[in-house]
Amino acid sequence: MGTIGLIGGMSWESTLEYYRLINQGVGSRLGGLHSARCLLYSVDFAEIERLQTAGDWDATATILADAAVRLERGGADFIVLCTNTMHIVADAITAAVSVPLLHIADATANAIRAAGVGTVGLLGTRFTMEQEFYLGRLRATHGLTVVIPEESDRELVHSVIYGELCRGEIRSQSRTAYVAVIDRLAASGAEAIILGCTEIGLLIRPADSPLPIFDTTRIHAEAAVERALSR
Ligand code: GLU
Repeated sequence: MGTIGLIGGMSWESTLEYYRLINQGVGSRLGGLHSARCLLYSVDFAEIERLQTAGDWDATATILADAAVRLERGGADFIVLCTNTMHIVADAITAAVSVPLLHIADATANAIRAAGVGTVGLLGTRFTMEQEFYLGRLRATHGLTVVIPEESDRELVHSVIYGELCRGEIRSQSRTAYVAVIDRLAASGAEAIILGCTEIGLLIRPADSPLPIFDTTRIHAEAAVERALSR
């Protein structure tokens, strides 16, 4: 079994899910008392969020590349960055280490294509919903048709992530509001929804959604298990 290097803490609420899902995944594949070999470097999210808001992506890249180097030094065979948003600096992380980065958008796109879905709606932070590092990868590299919420819905989805979910607050009013956003994406042609933020699965379970969901946390954790066990 390979050793998984997790860069977490963005937020720790979703990193907990990764840790649980990865260990459950290895346990169910290998049976008995088997669990995952992994290392976790967990950052101070307040520092990352402050730099995101300031648009200082270079500084976030320095912090996350340093985390990846530490994980590689500790014996990680590959890196899992436990957030969609911070894949904005995926290239800087990849350049800092010689082990591979398991990109969350690639794992998600592979799952969507395997399910035969062509048009998906995307929920995530503003950065993820609006910027090319993610949208462009889904569209150009993987050939998916992606629809995003309208401006006021993007604002709502973004503010619930930072104001509630990353603080461990799960509110039923926000679940209702997210379901209404999903309904509007369905009206725009979405056949399924990407939960493109690692905390959204804490709020929206498959039974809550009017469309099938692709939960990036689950998909990324499963891809990590697959990679670790293929060694
Ligand atoms: N965990 C979130 C994501 O998947 C948002 C927090 C962050 O900005 O990293 O995008």
